[in-house]
Amino acid sequence: MTSPAAYDDNNIFAKILRGEIPSHRVYEDQHTVAFMDVMPQAPGHVLVVPKAPSRNILDADPATLTHAITVVQKVAKALEEVFDADGVFIAQFNEPAAGQTVFHLHFHIIPRHQGVALKP
Ligand code: ADP
Repeated sequence: MTSPAAYDDNNIFAKILRGEIPSHRVYEDQHTVAFMDVMPQAPGHVLVVPKAPSRNILDADPATLTHAITVVQKVAKALEEVFDADGVFIAQFNEPAAGQTVFHLHFHIIPRHQGVALKP
């Protein structure tokens, strides 16, 4: 793969971070926000989004990733409890070939229940 494209702050999550479009925020700190996915694959589908302008994991700096994963863990634990989940699915896509459609680094966190499939 050639180098990933440069970060473009016209993406929808950058607009959410700037408060230009609404989101249902469930967590925020100095470096990270978490909000509900508008097209949840299961109830409780949350996106954890670092505020730093990274396109995806390939151009993110290590400090951003270190903090983000601690927030991912915090949110995953909260979702497991609130949704009485049997498990928690965590995913993160990099570049279109891997399924990325919004080009600002984010992590999907989805509470899962035994025998219940995700919506496509
Ligand atoms: P994919 O679309 O394949 O899941 P991404 O990992 O790039 O790829 O995920 C983008 C996610 O952002 C999708 O789950 C989509 O439902 C969600 N999304 C798009 N627009 C918004 C929005 N305005 N608010 C919250 N979530 C959004």
